[in-house]
Amino acid sequence: MNTIIMGLPGAGKGTQAEQIVATYHIPHISTGDMFRAAMKNKTDLGLKAKEYMDNGELVPDEVTNGIVKDRLAQPDTKNGFLLDGYPRTLNQAKALEETMKEFGRSIDLVINIDVDPAILMDRLTGRIICSKCGATYHKLFNPPKEKGVCDRCGSTEFYQRDDDKPETVKNRIEVNTTQSAPIIEFYKNKGVLKTVNGAEDIDKVFGKIQDFFEETK
Ligand code: ADP
Ligand code: ADP
Ligand code: ZN
Repeated sequence: MNTIIMGLPGAGKGTQAEQIVATYHIPHISTGDMFRAAMKNKTDLGLKAKEYMDNGELVPDEVTNGIVKDRLAQPDTKNGFLLDGYPRTLNQAKALEETMKEFGRSIDLVINIDVDPAILMDRLTGRIICSKCGATYHKLFNPPKEKGVCDRCGSTEFYQRDDDKPETVKNRIEVNTTQSAPIIEFYKNKGVLKTVNGAEDIDKVFGKIQDFFEETK
């Protein structure tokens, strides 16, 4: 299944994506993760992306479209994929459409995690990530089962993203709110959009997403 997970920053895309890819055995393709890895390794791509990410702005479409197209050309996407954080502009959605056409494929399902922006500041400023395996937690809403120990890999080191500080979060939410409305409309018109209420518990949201996969099969 060729799928996309959408939602404002903090809506729960990454959290749900972890469960989706473990259940359906498809690769998780997160543009945010790709940019962060490139920044860490100080590649050309990382240097290009850094100033945008530090300010909570979007990386230019021509850069982003190129890396996604290259990634979707990899053979592990043959039986499906989960795109997370892309497309984020209507231009990106159209570029993806072209890429799919070129590869003789199409998007089957777009999961839209809908949340009131008012809850996102607390979600993002409390987000913590395992330094070793990348699992995402929240200090209050979704802490590890044993305090300070990653459920998945046992590591005791966690970090907070540089762009999860309040000033940057505010700009990210604004930028993404403006950009997302036409994308939602675009996929609604194609008949592939399914929306879940992201204010519900993590497990409840995942239950709904599993229903979407069943209905779409
Ligand atoms: P979140 O998980 O909070 O939604 P991401 O990890 O998806 O955030 O993205 C972090 C940052 O990476 C964004 O603020 C933006 O600078 C950049 N980025 C990620 N995906 C895209 C994209 N599709 N287009 C442009 N910039 C992107
Ligand atoms: P995104 O990838 O959309 O930016 P994340 O999956 O990283 O969002 O989630 C943002 C923060 O909110 C994380 O700290 C995560 O643990 C927490 N979170 C995710 N889903 C929920 C939920 N349904 N209820 C409460 N907290 C959540
Ligand atoms: Zn871990």
